[in-house]
Amino acid sequence: MDNNNDFQIDIELVRQLVDGTIDDDNSERLLKLPRKDVGRFFQYIEVLQERVKWTDRILMRLGDNLYIVKNKENKRVTKCSCGQEFGDYRENWKLNCKVRIRKTGESMAEVYTPEPSVPEQGWQEIREFFCPNCATQLAVEVVAPGYPIVFEMFPDIDTFYRDYLGVPLTDESEDWYCDHTKKVTSEWAKG
Ligand SMILES: [Zn+2]
Repeated sequence: MDNNNDFQIDIELVRQLVDGTIDDDNSERLLKLPRKDVGRFFQYIEVLQERVKWTDRILMRLGDNLYIVKNKENKRVTKCSCGQEFGDYRENWKLNCKVRIRKTGESMAEVYTPEPSVPEQGWQEIREFFCPNCATQLAVEVVAPGYPIVFEMFPDIDTFYRDYLGVPLTDESEDWYCDHTKKVTSEWAKG
């Protein structure tokens, strides 16, 4: 049965997978599928959609609490589980976060063990990004001081839906897959 390309697992198993409650046998069964079952992505999205309070369509998940959604104004925006929006998904969402930077050896040692693994002060810094509404920590990056904020994942959503899933989005456009982060920072430079 697992060799059948039309194989479809029960959505309840996907719920358990998302919640981390799936048992070992079923987990192994899913891992050993020769091909991922048809429709798994949409089942997964359906389960995620059940678990958020808002109804905007989830296009993709970026992290435990972070999603790219199509909102009520038909814009593709990055959104937190709590409902906070971080703007157009083509702009690095981190620019709209609260940020804590650990620069001193002492502050970095608070989150690193053992001692030899602590980044060297002056050569590296730890940036922690928080949702300004619910205060959830959404990302952490360790970089050299002055390094631009890392845009961790900027997916080509249209190509993914069209070529991989075979279900093109109705608002497909060449303009979507174009990083707009510099538009935001250039506005800052003017201010
Ligand atoms: Zn939030």
